[in-house]
Amino acid sequence: MSGQTAADPDCIFCRIVRGELPSRRVFEDPDMIAFHDIKPIAPVHFLIIPRQHLVSLAECDEAHAPLLGRMLAKAGVLAREQGLGGGFRTIINTGRGGGQEVYHLHVHIVGGSRPLGAMLPREG
Ligand code: 5GP
Ligand code: ZN
Repeated sequence: MSGQTAADPDCIFCRIVRGELPSRRVFEDPDMIAFHDIKPIAPVHFLIIPRQHLVSLAECDEAHAPLLGRMLAKAGVLAREQGLGGGFRTIINTGRGGGQEVYHLHVHIVGGSRPLGAMLPREG
């Protein structure tokens, strides 16, 4: 698979996966972990990341489809467990142009308190 190494010793999220850096974990299984974002932008803000070091969606291909599917399939379950039964926003920033700051693939789950506004202005 492209875009993948077993682990990147300098990657913050690989260090969280290995338990070298603390995190408030929401969930873990053999494929992924989920933990609260250190700088939440909403009352509930957590991240789902693969255990394996994958840089971003841009490096993913067909071979990553099962893993990506499992990560997304967990999003709703975990969001509900975190109190987001009324809905949530899912964000995946990719590359510099997409505002990605940590280069280990992650899905943001964000919500709580009040309905989020539309992300992009609508025409008409
Ligand atoms: P990005 O812009 O790459 O999509 O977002 C990276 C996210 O990771 C940011 O929301 C940031 O607050 C979060 N983050 C960065 N470093 C850490 C950390 O050490 N621990 C936790 N829990 N979150 C982090
Ligand atoms: Zn990593």
